[in-house]
Amino acid sequence: MFIYINNENSLKIIIKELNALNIPFFIIGNGSNLLVSDEGYRGVVLSLSKSEKILRLEDGDSIICSAGISLAKACVFAMQNSLSGLEFAWGIPGTCGGALFMNAGAYGNDISNIIESSKYINKNGEEKILNKDEMRLSYRKSFYSEFKGNCITSLTFKLKPFHLEKIKEKMYENIHKRKSKQPLDYPNAGSIFKRPEGHYAGTLIENAGLKGKSIGGAMVSPKHAGFIINTGGATAQDVKELIRYIKKTVFEKFGVLLECEIKTLGNVRL
Ligand SMILES: Cc1cc2nc3c(=O)[nH]c(=O)nc-3n(C[C@H](O)[C@H](O)[C@H](O)COP(=O)(O)OP(=O)(O)OC[C@H]3O[C@@H](n4cnc5c(N)ncnc54)[C@H](O)[C@@H]3O)c2cc1C
Repeated sequence: MFIYINNENSLKIIIKELNALNIPFFIIGNGSNLLVSDEGYRGVVLSLSKSEKILRLEDGDSIICSAGISLAKACVFAMQNSLSGLEFAWGIPGTCGGALFMNAGAYGNDISNIIESSKYINKNGEEKILNKDEMRLSYRKSFYSEFKGNCITSLTFKLKPFHLEKIKEKMYENIHKRKSKQPLDYPNAGSIFKRPEGHYAGTLIENAGLKGKSIGGAMVSPKHAGFIINTGGATAQDVKELIRYIKKTVFEKFGVLLECEIKTLGNVRL
């Protein structure tokens, strides 16, 4: 079952009921970081994409936004208000909620550097607030990824006033880097693996000779070996088998065990 949430009140009721009835549920953002099982998911998927949305300025240097708002919209809003800090996120697909859950990052920066607080609905349907420290943000991890089933509803970013033109310039520079290095012309879920300590996953995969390796419709991108692209008709099973093959080959060649960054939904064990 797929439910579009209208407002926070219905979200509270639905989450409380699902928990009381012991029905599994999954909160989806934009699905940019997801591999969904070919068999689907036996449970309820909750989406905030059609719910009431807030995106506003507070105290001159903070932005409050709903979790279902796209990160791109928050980036543009910050730029339009001459606030710096979100430039690194320009080009990262997905929602603000998904970005906080993942502590999304790029170019040496991540959400932990600009987040001030967040609100969520817990399993009992109660609204809670976390400050920055309580969100336990580290590399692609957060309180929310540790304790599943809490639905982020809004976030506050603390930014710095800066020159609008310089912010714009940085955003263009970042999107240009993405377009030149990432296989954006094919469906993909971003970097498949986390960055292993002291290495880059993409470089290890490339040096293992795996660029272009394919299983079914899933292929290690010839443009960036850290990405798996769907060249047409790829199943989740194809992607899963390719991930296993990459992990095995990289471990045998370099002794490095790659860990997946992408999240799964349904019966997909990576
Ligand atoms: C081309 C491409 C480039 C990318 N580049 C980057 C990059 O540079 N850096 C980076 O970090 N990532 C990158 N990604 C991955 C992805 O964009 C991020 O992880 C993004 O933050 C996911 O957001 P989403 O809304 O799509 O979340 P989803 O993929 O829908 O979900 C991700 C996780 O967040 C949880 N979640 C989502 N919303 C909520 C909520 N409101 N409350 C509680 N839990 C929630 C989901 O349950 C799931 O576990 C890239 C992806 C692509 C396709």
